[in-house]
Amino acid sequence: MKLHEYQAKELLARYGVPVPKGRVARTPEEAEQVAAELGGKAVVKAQVHAGGRGKAGGIKLAATPVEARAAAQALLGTRLVTHQSGPAGQPIDAVLVEEQTDIARELYLAVIIDSARGMPVVIASAAGGMEIEEVAEAHPERIFSEPIDPTVGFQPFQARALAFATGLDGDLNRPAVAAITNLVGAALECDGSLAEINPLAVTADNRIVALDAKFNVDDNADYRQQALFGLADTAQDEPIEVRARDAGIENYVKLGGNIGCMVNGAGLAMATMDAIQFEGGMPANFLDIGTQNDPAAIKAALEIIGADPDVRAVLVNIFGGLARTDVIAEGVVLAKREGLIPQPTVVRLAGTNVEAGMKILDDSGLDLLRADGFAEAARMAVAAVR
Ligand code: GDP
Ligand code: MN
Repeated sequence: MKLHEYQAKELLARYGVPVPKGRVARTPEEAEQVAAELGGKAVVKAQVHAGGRGKAGGIKLAATPVEARAAAQALLGTRLVTHQSGPAGQPIDAVLVEEQTDIARELYLAVIIDSARGMPVVIASAAGGMEIEEVAEAHPERIFSEPIDPTVGFQPFQARALAFATGLDGDLNRPAVAAITNLVGAALECDGSLAEINPLAVTADNRIVALDAKFNVDDNADYRQQALFGLADTAQDEPIEVRARDAGIENYVKLGGNIGCMVNGAGLAMATMDAIQFEGGMPANFLDIGTQNDPAAIKAALEIIGADPDVRAVLVNIFGGLARTDVIAEGVVLAKREGLIPQPTVVRLAGTNVEAGMKILDDSGLDLLRADGFAEAARMAVAAVR
Protein backbone atom coordinates (compact mmCIF):
# COMPACT_ATOMS: atom_id res chain seq x y z
CA MET A 1 0.00 0.00 0.00
CA LYS A 2 1.45 3.29 -1.10
CA LEU A 3 1.34 6.46 0.95
CA HIS A 4 1.30 9.87 -0.67
CA GLU A 5 4.36 12.06 -0.23
CA TYR A 6 2.59 14.28 2.31
CA GLN A 7 1.52 11.24 4.34
CA ALA A 8 4.99 9.73 4.14
CA LYS A 9 6.52 13.00 5.32
CA GLU A 10 4.13 13.20 8.29
CA LEU A 11 5.13 9.65 9.18
CA LEU A 12 8.86 10.32 8.83
CA ALA A 13 8.59 13.55 10.81
CA ARG A 14 7.01 11.60 13.66
CA TYR A 15 10.12 9.41 13.67
CA GLY A 16 12.47 12.39 13.71
CA VAL A 17 13.42 12.69 10.04
CA PRO A 18 13.55 16.41 9.15
CA VAL A 19 11.09 17.46 6.43
CA PRO A 20 10.22 20.89 5.01
CA LYS A 21 7.36 22.85 6.60
CA GLY A 22 4.18 22.50 4.64
CA ARG A 23 0.70 21.12 4.40
CA VAL A 24 -1.55 19.33 1.94
CA ALA A 25 -4.16 21.39 0.03
CA ARG A 26 -7.17 20.23 -1.96
CA THR A 27 -8.26 23.55 -3.45
CA PRO A 28 -6.36 26.47 -5.04
CA GLU A 29 -7.58 28.76 -2.23
CA GLU A 30 -6.21 26.40 0.39
CA ALA A 31 -2.88 26.29 -1.46
CA GLU A 32 -2.76 30.08 -1.47
CA GLN A 33 -3.43 30.16 2.24
CA VAL A 34 -0.75 27.59 3.07
CA ALA A 35 1.77 29.52 0.96
CA ALA A 36 0.86 32.71 2.83
CA GLU A 37 1.39 30.92 6.14
CA LEU A 38 4.82 29.81 4.89
CA GLY A 39 5.81 33.38 4.19
CA GLY A 40 4.83 33.55 0.51
CA LYS A 41 7.38 31.46 -1.40
CA ALA A 42 6.40 27.83 -1.85
CA VAL A 43 6.76 24.61 -3.82
CA VAL A 44 3.49 23.10 -5.04
CA LYS A 45 3.74 19.34 -5.54
CA ALA A 46 1.21 17.04 -7.19
CA GLN A 47 0.30 14.14 -4.90
CA VAL A 48 0.14 11.02 -7.05
CA HIS A 49 1.35 7.47 -6.53
CA ALA A 50 4.09 7.77 -9.11
CA GLY A 51 7.62 9.13 -9.19
CA GLY A 52 9.12 11.30 -11.89
CA ARG A 53 6.77 14.20 -11.13
CA GLY A 54 9.47 16.83 -11.47
CA LYS A 55 10.20 16.00 -15.11
CA ALA A 56 6.49 15.64 -15.85
CA GLY A 57 5.58 19.14 -14.63
CA GLY A 58 4.07 18.01 -11.35
CA ILE A 59 6.36 20.17 -9.17
CA LYS A 60 5.96 23.94 -9.44
CA LEU A 61 7.84 26.74 -7.71
CA ALA A 62 5.73 29.73 -6.64
CA ALA A 63 7.16 33.09 -5.59
CA THR A 64 3.93 34.38 -4.04
CA PRO A 65 0.71 32.95 -2.56
CA VAL A 66 -1.14 34.00 -5.73
CA GLU A 67 1.34 32.02 -7.82
CA ALA A 68 0.85 29.05 -5.49
CA ARG A 69 -2.88 29.27 -6.09
CA ALA A 70 -2.34 29.35 -9.85
CA ALA A 71 0.02 26.36 -9.66
CA ALA A 72 -2.54 24.40 -7.63
CA GLN A 73 -5.28 25.45 -10.03
CA ALA A 74 -3.24 24.11 -12.96
CA LEU A 75 -2.57 20.78 -11.24
CA LEU A 76 -5.73 19.90 -9.29
CA GLY A 77 -8.35 17.94 -11.17
CA THR A 78 -5.94 16.92 -13.92
CA ARG A 79 -4.06 13.68 -14.43
CA LEU A 80 -0.29 13.54 -14.24
CA VAL A 81 1.50 11.30 -16.70
CA THR A 82 5.03 10.38 -15.63
CA HIS A 83 7.34 7.62 -16.83
CA GLN A 84 6.06 5.55 -13.88
CA SER A 85 2.33 6.26 -14.10
CA GLY A 86 1.30 4.45 -17.27
CA PRO A 87 -0.17 6.31 -20.27
CA ALA A 88 -3.46 7.22 -18.55
CA GLY A 89 -1.64 8.99 -15.74
CA GLN A 90 -2.87 9.38 -12.18
CA PRO A 91 -5.44 11.82 -10.80
CA ILE A 92 -4.20 14.86 -8.88
CA ASP A 93 -6.70 15.33 -6.06
CA ALA A 94 -4.29 17.04 -3.68
CA VAL A 95 -1.11 19.09 -3.73
CA LEU A 96 1.54 19.44 -1.06
CA VAL A 97 2.44 23.07 -0.48
CA GLU A 98 5.85 23.41 1.15
CA GLU A 99 8.43 26.02 1.98
CA GLN A 100 11.10 26.31 -0.71
CA THR A 101 14.44 24.77 0.05
CA ASP A 102 17.71 26.20 -1.13
CA ILE A 103 19.49 23.03 -2.24
CA ALA A 104 23.25 22.59 -2.05
CA ARG A 105 23.41 18.83 -2.63
CA GLU A 106 20.94 16.06 -3.44
CA LEU A 107 21.51 12.57 -2.02
CA TYR A 108 19.60 9.30 -2.05
CA LEU A 109 18.57 7.32 1.02
CA ALA A 110 16.24 4.34 1.25
CA VAL A 111 15.32 1.22 3.17
CA ILE A 112 14.30 -1.58 0.84
CA ILE A 113 13.77 -5.31 1.18
CA ASP A 114 16.64 -7.21 -0.41
CA SER A 115 15.13 -10.58 -1.23
CA ALA A 116 18.52 -12.01 -2.22
CA ARG A 117 19.96 -11.22 1.20
CA GLY A 118 16.67 -12.01 2.89
CA MET A 119 16.60 -8.83 4.95
CA PRO A 120 15.99 -5.11 4.68
CA VAL A 121 18.96 -3.02 3.58
CA VAL A 122 19.72 0.67 3.77
CA ILE A 123 20.86 2.15 0.46
CA ALA A 124 22.63 5.50 0.26
CA SER A 125 24.21 7.47 -2.53
CA ALA A 126 25.62 10.94 -2.98
CA ALA A 127 24.06 10.85 -6.47
CA GLY A 128 20.51 11.75 -5.45
CA GLY A 129 17.70 13.53 -7.22
CA MET A 130 17.95 11.29 -10.25
CA GLU A 131 16.74 7.79 -11.00
CA ILE A 132 18.59 5.46 -8.66
CA GLU A 133 18.26 2.67 -11.25
CA GLU A 134 20.32 4.78 -13.66
CA VAL A 135 22.97 5.40 -11.03
CA ALA A 136 23.07 1.68 -10.25
CA GLU A 137 23.59 0.94 -13.94
CA ALA A 138 26.17 3.59 -14.80
CA HIS A 139 27.94 4.07 -11.46
CA PRO A 140 27.39 1.08 -9.16
CA GLU A 141 30.43 2.22 -7.13
CA ARG A 142 28.47 5.31 -6.06
CA ILE A 143 25.84 3.24 -4.26
CA PHE A 144 26.44 2.04 -0.72
CA SER A 145 24.37 -0.40 1.29
CA GLU A 146 24.22 -1.77 4.81
CA PRO A 147 22.04 -4.76 5.73
CA ILE A 148 19.64 -4.60 8.66
CA ASP A 149 20.30 -7.88 10.37
CA PRO A 150 17.05 -9.04 11.98
CA THR A 151 18.86 -10.57 14.95
CA VAL A 152 21.13 -7.68 15.95
CA GLY A 153 19.30 -4.79 14.30
CA PHE A 154 20.77 -1.76 12.59
CA GLN A 155 24.01 -0.69 14.28
CA PRO A 156 25.24 2.87 14.85
CA PHE A 157 28.52 2.17 13.01
CA GLN A 158 26.51 1.25 9.91
CA ALA A 159 24.75 4.62 9.90
CA ARG A 160 28.12 6.36 10.32
CA ALA A 161 29.61 4.33 7.48
CA LEU A 162 26.79 5.34 5.11
CA ALA A 163 27.05 8.99 6.15
CA PHE A 164 30.80 9.12 5.55
CA ALA A 165 30.56 7.21 2.27
CA THR A 166 28.12 9.78 0.91
CA GLY A 167 30.11 12.81 2.05
CA LEU A 168 27.97 13.64 5.06
CA ASP A 169 30.87 14.42 7.37
CA GLY A 170 31.85 17.28 9.63
CA ASP A 171 28.86 19.16 11.04
CA LEU A 172 26.52 17.11 8.90
CA ASN A 173 27.54 13.78 10.33
CA ARG A 174 25.40 13.82 13.47
CA PRO A 175 22.18 14.92 11.77
CA ALA A 176 22.86 12.49 8.91
CA VAL A 177 23.34 9.56 11.29
CA ALA A 178 20.14 10.58 13.08
CA ALA A 179 18.18 10.82 9.81
CA ILE A 180 19.40 7.41 8.63
CA THR A 181 18.71 5.77 12.00
CA ASN A 182 15.26 7.35 12.23
CA LEU A 183 14.34 6.31 8.69
CA VAL A 184 15.27 2.74 9.61
CA GLY A 185 13.12 3.01 12.76
CA ALA A 186 10.13 4.18 10.73
CA ALA A 187 10.57 1.47 8.10
CA LEU A 188 10.86 -1.33 10.65
CA GLU A 189 8.11 -0.22 13.03
CA CYS A 190 5.65 0.61 10.24
CA ASP A 191 6.33 -2.49 8.11
CA GLY A 192 7.70 -0.46 5.23
CA SER A 193 8.41 -2.48 2.11
CA LEU A 194 9.98 0.70 0.72
CA ALA A 195 10.97 3.87 2.55
CA GLU A 196 12.74 6.18 0.13
CA ILE A 197 14.01 9.74 0.37
CA ASN A 198 15.07 11.04 -3.04
CA PRO A 199 16.40 13.61 -2.78
CA LEU A 200 17.70 13.87 0.73
CA ALA A 201 18.87 17.47 0.48
CA VAL A 202 21.75 19.28 2.08
CA THR A 203 20.54 22.87 2.24
CA ALA A 204 22.59 25.98 1.49
CA ASP A 205 22.67 26.65 5.25
CA ASN A 206 24.00 23.14 5.86
CA ARG A 207 20.96 21.30 7.17
CA ILE A 208 19.64 17.91 6.11
CA VAL A 209 16.05 17.63 4.97
CA ALA A 210 13.93 15.00 3.21
CA LEU A 211 12.73 16.85 0.10
CA ASP A 212 10.76 13.91 -1.23
CA ALA A 213 9.44 10.79 0.47
CA LYS A 214 7.98 7.52 -0.66
CA PHE A 215 6.67 4.98 1.79
CA ASN A 216 5.02 1.68 0.87
CA VAL A 217 3.53 -0.45 3.63
CA ASP A 218 3.72 -4.22 3.30
CA ASP A 219 0.21 -5.41 2.35
CA ASN A 220 0.61 -8.43 4.61
CA ALA A 221 0.89 -6.10 7.60
CA ASP A 222 -2.56 -4.57 7.18
CA TYR A 223 -3.81 -6.18 10.40
CA ARG A 224 -1.25 -4.38 12.54
CA GLN A 225 -0.89 -1.14 10.57
CA GLN A 226 -4.56 -0.26 10.52
CA ALA A 227 -3.99 3.47 11.01
CA LEU A 228 -1.67 3.59 7.98
CA PHE A 229 -4.00 1.47 5.86
CA GLY A 230 -6.75 3.94 6.72
CA LEU A 231 -4.76 6.47 4.68
CA ALA A 232 -5.00 4.42 1.47
CA ASP A 233 -6.08 6.46 -1.54
CA THR A 234 -7.77 3.97 -3.86
CA ALA A 235 -8.52 6.74 -6.39
CA GLN A 236 -4.87 6.27 -7.40
CA ASP A 237 -5.37 2.58 -8.22
CA GLU A 238 -6.70 0.89 -11.33
CA PRO A 239 -10.48 0.65 -10.55
CA ILE A 240 -10.67 -2.98 -11.64
CA GLU A 241 -7.80 -3.88 -9.29
CA VAL A 242 -9.66 -2.21 -6.42
CA ARG A 243 -12.72 -4.33 -7.21
CA ALA A 244 -10.59 -7.47 -7.32
CA ARG A 245 -9.08 -6.67 -3.94
CA ASP A 246 -12.53 -6.04 -2.48
CA ALA A 247 -13.60 -9.48 -3.77
CA GLY A 248 -10.73 -11.07 -1.84
CA ILE A 249 -8.48 -11.64 -4.88
CA GLU A 250 -4.98 -10.58 -3.94
CA ASN A 251 -3.20 -11.09 -7.21
CA TYR A 252 -4.94 -9.24 -9.98
CA VAL A 253 -2.92 -7.06 -12.33
CA LYS A 254 -4.52 -5.36 -15.30
CA LEU A 255 -2.49 -5.71 -18.49
CA GLY A 256 -2.79 -4.32 -22.00
CA GLY A 257 -4.21 -7.26 -23.96
CA ASN A 258 -7.67 -8.72 -24.57
CA ILE A 259 -7.64 -12.29 -23.25
CA GLY A 260 -8.95 -12.40 -19.69
CA CYS A 261 -7.21 -15.10 -17.66
CA MET A 262 -8.28 -16.97 -14.57
CA VAL A 263 -5.51 -19.23 -13.41
CA ASN A 264 -4.50 -20.79 -10.10
CA GLY A 265 -0.93 -20.47 -8.95
CA ALA A 266 1.43 -17.67 -9.91
CA GLY A 267 3.69 -20.05 -11.86
CA LEU A 268 0.87 -21.43 -13.97
CA ALA A 269 -0.43 -17.88 -14.46
CA MET A 270 2.97 -16.78 -15.78
CA ALA A 271 3.21 -19.84 -18.03
CA THR A 272 -0.31 -19.18 -19.34
CA MET A 273 0.59 -15.62 -20.22
CA ASP A 274 3.68 -16.89 -22.03
CA ALA A 275 1.60 -19.45 -23.92
CA ILE A 276 -0.90 -16.77 -25.00
CA GLN A 277 1.91 -14.56 -26.28
CA PHE A 278 3.59 -17.51 -27.96
CA GLU A 279 0.35 -18.04 -29.89
CA GLY A 280 0.34 -14.38 -30.91
CA GLY A 281 -2.18 -13.07 -28.37
CA MET A 282 -1.98 -10.71 -25.42
CA PRO A 283 -3.34 -11.33 -21.89
CA ALA A 284 -5.70 -8.70 -20.45
CA ASN A 285 -4.69 -9.45 -16.90
CA PHE A 286 -2.69 -11.54 -14.52
CA LEU A 287 -4.97 -13.28 -12.04
CA ASP A 288 -3.91 -15.89 -9.56
CA ILE A 289 -7.01 -17.03 -7.70
CA GLY A 290 -4.92 -19.19 -5.40
CA THR A 291 -6.82 -22.03 -3.76
CA GLN A 292 -10.49 -21.05 -3.78
CA ASN A 293 -12.87 -23.86 -2.99
CA ASP A 294 -15.94 -21.67 -3.19
CA PRO A 295 -17.95 -21.28 -6.39
CA ALA A 296 -19.02 -17.76 -5.32
CA ALA A 297 -15.38 -16.62 -5.21
CA ILE A 298 -14.77 -18.10 -8.67
CA LYS A 299 -17.88 -16.36 -9.94
CA ALA A 300 -16.72 -13.05 -8.45
CA ALA A 301 -13.33 -13.39 -10.13
CA LEU A 302 -14.94 -14.15 -13.49
CA GLU A 303 -17.34 -11.24 -13.09
CA ILE A 304 -14.36 -8.89 -12.74
CA ILE A 305 -12.69 -10.37 -15.82
CA GLY A 306 -15.90 -10.26 -17.85
CA ALA A 307 -16.61 -6.64 -16.90
CA ASP A 308 -13.29 -5.43 -18.32
CA PRO A 309 -14.24 -3.74 -21.61
CA ASP A 310 -10.91 -4.80 -23.13
CA VAL A 311 -11.61 -8.51 -22.67
CA ARG A 312 -12.71 -10.32 -25.84
CA ALA A 313 -12.13 -13.92 -24.75
CA VAL A 314 -11.81 -15.61 -21.37
CA LEU A 315 -9.35 -18.35 -20.59
CA VAL A 316 -9.79 -20.48 -17.47
CA ASN A 317 -6.72 -22.59 -16.85
CA ILE A 318 -6.74 -24.59 -13.64
CA PHE A 319 -4.49 -27.29 -12.35
CA GLY A 320 -6.33 -28.65 -9.35
CA GLY A 321 -4.14 -29.62 -6.41
CA LEU A 322 -5.76 -28.45 -3.22
CA ALA A 323 -8.17 -26.51 -5.42
CA ARG A 324 -10.98 -28.78 -6.65
CA THR A 325 -11.72 -28.50 -10.34
CA ASP A 326 -15.39 -29.44 -9.78
CA VAL A 327 -15.79 -26.35 -7.58
CA ILE A 328 -14.09 -24.24 -10.26
CA ALA A 329 -16.44 -25.73 -12.89
CA GLU A 330 -19.44 -24.82 -10.74
CA GLY A 331 -18.21 -21.23 -10.51
CA VAL A 332 -17.63 -21.05 -14.27
CA VAL A 333 -21.13 -22.38 -14.96
CA LEU A 334 -22.67 -19.87 -12.51
CA ALA A 335 -20.83 -16.95 -14.12
CA LYS A 336 -21.64 -18.07 -17.66
CA ARG A 337 -25.31 -18.73 -16.88
CA GLU A 338 -25.71 -15.31 -15.27
CA GLY A 339 -24.17 -13.60 -18.29
CA LEU A 340 -21.14 -12.34 -16.36
CA ILE A 341 -18.72 -13.64 -19.00
CA PRO A 342 -20.45 -13.07 -22.32
CA GLN A 343 -17.12 -13.44 -24.15
CA PRO A 344 -16.10 -16.77 -25.74
CA THR A 345 -14.81 -18.85 -22.83
CA VAL A 346 -12.12 -21.51 -23.04
CA VAL A 347 -11.83 -23.89 -20.09
CA ARG A 348 -8.99 -26.23 -19.37
CA LEU A 349 -9.14 -28.28 -16.20
CA ALA A 350 -6.66 -30.83 -14.89
CA GLY A 351 -6.01 -32.47 -11.55
CA THR A 352 -8.23 -32.99 -8.52
CA ASN A 353 -11.80 -34.12 -9.34
CA VAL A 354 -11.33 -33.45 -13.03
CA GLU A 355 -13.96 -36.05 -14.09
CA ALA A 356 -16.57 -34.42 -11.87
CA GLY A 357 -15.53 -31.00 -13.15
CA MET A 358 -15.85 -32.01 -16.80
CA LYS A 359 -19.26 -33.51 -16.11
CA ILE A 360 -20.49 -30.25 -14.58
CA LEU A 361 -19.36 -28.38 -17.69
CA ASP A 362 -20.99 -31.01 -19.98
CA ASP A 363 -24.28 -31.09 -18.08
CA SER A 364 -24.58 -27.31 -18.09
CA GLY A 365 -25.37 -27.27 -21.80
CA LEU A 366 -23.54 -23.92 -21.96
CA ASP A 367 -21.33 -22.82 -24.81
CA LEU A 368 -17.91 -23.43 -23.25
CA LEU A 369 -14.85 -24.17 -25.37
CA ARG A 370 -12.90 -27.07 -23.94
CA ALA A 371 -9.15 -27.67 -24.13
CA ASP A 372 -7.00 -30.52 -22.86
CA GLY A 373 -3.54 -29.00 -22.63
CA PHE A 374 -2.81 -25.42 -21.87
CA ALA A 375 -0.96 -24.72 -25.13
CA GLU A 376 -4.16 -25.80 -26.84
CA ALA A 377 -6.19 -23.63 -24.50
CA ALA A 378 -4.05 -20.61 -25.35
CA ARG A 379 -4.38 -21.31 -29.08
CA MET A 380 -8.17 -21.54 -28.78
CA ALA A 381 -8.40 -18.29 -26.83
CA VAL A 382 -6.26 -16.45 -29.39
CA ALA A 383 -8.40 -17.90 -32.19
CA ALA A 384 -11.59 -16.83 -30.38
CA VAL A 385 -10.35 -13.24 -30.22
CA ARG A 386 -9.58 -13.26 -33.92
P1 GDP B 1 9.79 13.39 -8.11
O1 GDP B 1 10.24 13.99 -9.43
O2 GDP B 1 8.42 12.80 -8.21
O3 GDP B 1 10.79 12.45 -7.56
O4 GDP B 1 9.64 14.64 -7.10
P2 GDP B 1 10.68 15.32 -6.07
O5 GDP B 1 9.93 15.72 -4.87
O6 GDP B 1 11.87 14.46 -5.85
O7 GDP B 1 11.13 16.64 -6.81
C1 GDP B 1 11.89 16.59 -8.01
C2 GDP B 1 12.98 17.66 -7.98
O8 GDP B 1 12.38 18.94 -7.79
C3 GDP B 1 13.95 17.53 -6.83
O9 GDP B 1 15.01 16.63 -7.10
C4 GDP B 1 14.47 18.95 -6.69
O10 GDP B 1 15.55 19.15 -7.56
C5 GDP B 1 13.28 19.79 -7.13
N1 GDP B 1 12.65 20.38 -5.92
C6 GDP B 1 11.71 19.83 -5.11
N2 GDP B 1 11.45 20.65 -4.07
C7 GDP B 1 12.26 21.74 -4.23
C8 GDP B 1 12.48 22.94 -3.48
O11 GDP B 1 11.91 23.20 -2.44
N3 GDP B 1 13.40 23.82 -3.98
C9 GDP B 1 14.08 23.60 -5.13
N4 GDP B 1 14.96 24.49 -5.55
N5 GDP B 1 13.91 22.48 -5.84
C10 GDP B 1 13.00 21.57 -5.41
MN1 MN C 1 11.91 12.29 -5.89
